[in-house]
Amino acid sequence: MRAHAVAVASLPPFSNQRGCPQCGASYEIRVHFDRDCALVSGDHFHRVCRCGHRWLERCSEEPTAPVTPPAG
Ligand SMILES: [Zn+2]
Ligand SMILES: [Zn+2]
Repeated sequence: MRAHAVAVASLPPFSNQRGCPQCGASYEIRVHFDRDCALVSGDHFHRVCRCGHRWLERCSEEPTAPVTPPAG
């Protein structure tokens, strides 16, 4: 039985200059990488503020570009 996980694309982008949306603190926010959990399907970050608020952000990766084979 699998939980209905949200797609990473629906998460806000990862930013190093973002504070807590609840208390406004931009420091002492724990960030840890997670790639497989019941909440989100894909690579993403978990943020946990000291105030207890927690949220998710997706990786700031660029969309996968098509691979072009070397000519010749
Ligand atoms: Zn906070
Ligand atoms: Zn997760």
